[in-house]
Amino acid sequence: MNGITIALSKGRIFEETLPLLAAAGIVPLEHPESSRKLIIGTNRPDVRVVIVRASDTPTYVQYGAADLGIAGRDVLLEHGGVGLYQPLDLKIAQCRMCVAAPAGFDYQAAVRRGARLSVATKYIHTAREHFAAKGVHVDLIKLYGSMELAPLVGLADAIVDLVSSGSTLKANNLVVVEEILQISSRLIVNQAALKMKREALQPLISAFAGAVG
Ligand code: ADP
Ligand code: MG
Repeated sequence: MNGITIALSKGRIFEETLPLLAAAGIVPLEHPESSRKLIIGTNRPDVRVVIVRASDTPTYVQYGAADLGIAGRDVLLEHGGVGLYQPLDLKIAQCRMCVAAPAGFDYQAAVRRGARLSVATKYIHTAREHFAAKGVHVDLIKLYGSMELAPLVGLADAIVDLVSSGSTLKANNLVVVEEILQISSRLIVNQAALKMKREALQPLISAFAGAVG
């Protein structure tokens, strides 16, 4: 395709990207919450948005199915960033990746005595690096969502998950016991597209950069 394809996930990334797109003069013609379309046109005939699962965004951009995308640092660390240029931290969808455990579980004491902990997470790669760097012995259990449930039903001692307000943890009687990383979303660009379509992409990247608070 000659124009520009932008991969976005619905939910907070789509919502928080709208003002950035507007700064570049781009307005999507439909909203993914009300439309079932996965390809959404914009006011610019040469620009379209494709709606993908958050964790799939880097894959679409890596293979050039989208020229640009917006993905969380959490997702990019799991993906590895192969084939992606990451020119901008957009400072949207901000949260923290944390270790959380039931309020009654003494995580620090368990770590001090060298206990082997089971930890449920969607972020296997980042979690493995974090615990290895700290010398904590863990068995990681891969989940795809609702991580908070795992310690409550005895699937794991702790979880690694994203936290913003902390209200989901609180509702499930979990507390943050360690912070791993600050998370925000980044603009990602297909490396080949940046060379081949630089004239079309560069103004957009510059407009995004100007709009970042
Ligand atoms: P999914 O449910 O498909 O994993 P989400 O919409 O929950 O997608 O998350 C998409 C991205 O938004 C994540 O990759 C992360 O970077 C960011 N994110 C997730 N949870 C939060 C949160 N509580 N606060 C702010 N940003 C978040
Ligand atoms: Mg979610």
